[in-house]
Amino acid sequence: MTNSLLAPRAAPFDLPDFAAVTDAEFAPAFETALAEARAQIDAIAANPAPPDFANTIEALELSGRALSDVLSVFFLFASVDSTPEREALQRAFSPKLAEFSSDVVLNAALFARIDALWQGRAALDLTPEQARLLEVKHRDFIRAGAALAEEGRARLRAINTRLAELGTAFAQNLLADERDWTMLLAETDLDGLPGFVIEAARAAGAERDGAGPVVTLSRSLIVPFLQFSPRRDLRERAWRAWVARGARGGATDNRAIVAETLALRAERAAVLGFDSFAAGKLETEMAKTPQAVRDLLMAVWAPARARAEADAAILEAMLAADGHPAPLEPWDWRYYAEKRRMAEHDLDEAALKPFLQLDRMIEAAFDCAHRLFGLEFTPLDVTLHHPDARAWEVTREGRHMAVFIGDYFARPGKRSGAWCTALRAQQKLADEIRPHVLNVCNFSRPAEGRPAFLSWDDARTLFHEFGHALHQMLSDVTHESLSGTSVARDFVELPSQLYEHWLEVPEVLERFATHAETGAPMPADMLTRLLGAAKFDMGFQTVEFIASALVDLDFHEGPPPADPIQREAEVLQAIGMPRAIGMRHATPHFAHVFSGGGYAAGYYSYMWSEVMDADAFAAFDEAGDPFDPETARALEAHILSAGGTAEPDALYVAFRGRLPGIEALLKGRGLDAAA
Ligand SMILES: [Zn+2]
Repeated sequence: MTNSLLAPRAAPFDLPDFAAVTDAEFAPAFETALAEARAQIDAIAANPAPPDFANTIEALELSGRALSDVLSVFFLFASVDSTPEREALQRAFSPKLAEFSSDVVLNAALFARIDALWQGRAALDLTPEQARLLEVKHRDFIRAGAALAEEGRARLRAINTRLAELGTAFAQNLLADERDWTMLLAETDLDGLPGFVIEAARAAGAERDGAGPVVTLSRSLIVPFLQFSPRRDLRERAWRAWVARGARGGATDNRAIVAETLALRAERAAVLGFDSFAAGKLETEMAKTPQAVRDLLMAVWAPARARAEADAAILEAMLAADGHPAPLEPWDWRYYAEKRRMAEHDLDEAALKPFLQLDRMIEAAFDCAHRLFGLEFTPLDVTLHHPDARAWEVTREGRHMAVFIGDYFARPGKRSGAWCTALRAQQKLADEIRPHVLNVCNFSRPAEGRPAFLSWDDARTLFHEFGHALHQMLSDVTHESLSGTSVARDFVELPSQLYEHWLEVPEVLERFATHAETGAPMPADMLTRLLGAAKFDMGFQTVEFIASALVDLDFHEGPPPADPIQREAEVLQAIGMPRAIGMRHATPHFAHVFSGGGYAAGYYSYMWSEVMDADAFAAFDEAGDPFDPETARALEAHILSAGGTAEPDALYVAFRGRLPGIEALLKGRGLDAAA
């Protein structure tokens, strides 16, 4: 019987044949595709013909297609419907993949060909995109150790394999801790909770053993619980469980993994000749140096901390008025901030909720993409990886652009958080390939037959991930390695964070934020209060983010800490972390930084990107129209379609005519002097 993962695709638009995929197929498909990819690399390296761009760089681009197709399907299942079997497969695949990628970048014959092309590049007559690709490939090989002597290469290989195992273990431990913990609520414990939280808690309980409503560690459930539950004891229990993820002792504890990971990263950087892991990592980012990152974070830290301390005093007075002993604790902040929001802005999340229906917010995201970029979305009737998932064909003036898939609801076995991924990225090297783009979220599942509602935070997440999706769907480059979101880490959040701004455009909310039962648009005064409250609690949000970013930077800047948890405490002490605010991600569950190295010494990049997104949206303000066609065209031409075909600062300057300063960011967060 043929393996459906390796068979030619017969589903519409070349989608994977999800109806046919079985778990038993993953391992054999992986082995076959990996062997094929190895053979392709070996053939390029051993080619007797002298190296040229086509037989080396383009051949590399076109290699490994079957492997990436198999892996994109496997990792989708492993991240959105994890099971013990799939976790075991992932543990088996990850060291083999790390070894393969080491074998490619440390292949001396292959590097000799790339290096020869690089040295002779002036005579190659390359297009700008080809020249950029050669530069990026050569740089990637050097940064992976290709130019080192054999001893250094062997050590890097061992480090990479071990780091891959550690990253997988970190993520799986976290998932286990999130899956295992629930807090059963008695009927009286529901007092004071708004209907949507009760509904979500009942749905989560029904999905498990059905013993009654539960609080889980899913952000979409625990955050509203912390916001609304008047029970200080229950909030404390929930909060302590939430921040203990990855640090509960026993088999799923991540603390030793963190220490070993940091030591290996520091050693790796030293072998490659960098001053530190952070110095090496940032060299190819827009920020370039650890100092540039620290300068940005500290410039925003001071006003953010001052705002948070002033807010803490107000919240502590509210706590005292409720008859509770001081001090204000981290499990109190969200509850009293919500009360204050209702008092000062008269904005009640529970009253807002019926206006934020998931389906209407999806329509809003689509409609903005239509007005800005002419995209149209038609529902597709195809079998996907899970019954929750939905697909649309994306077209422009009748031309097929992409398939967009949304998988929105939390469920056991789904990794927490929200993300965007391409099952296939855009390219047109050998043939025209349009992307398959997926948004995954963890919104609370509605009760049977009821519409799904979002919090304001959820709605922002929806727009955020859709911004990433646009970066993939509008991509128009030749080479997959430069396509879509294949850009510097501190640039990749620009399209996503920029797109969040359209959710706040009044005419968008007027049209799409309609009441689930009456269909009435959001009342004008609620809209005004909602937009007015956008800067509310920004001291808290900025502080929890920067604390995480500074700990991440510190971990990777000097010698690795023997005890990362103690170092974390020292960093927080040094910056004067307000006691009632926790880090957005504490070290034992800081998946951005430890389940793989993608955001290691890179968590700052959300704020780096925010400097740009605030400044970029100001371009629409300056044009006097949030849908200004000229500005939208420039945005697509220089950023959304351009992928990584140029350095990020060059792309930004092409769009805006200059680099951004931090003024728009401070203003957007209400942290500027005028606020
Ligand atoms: Zn993002």
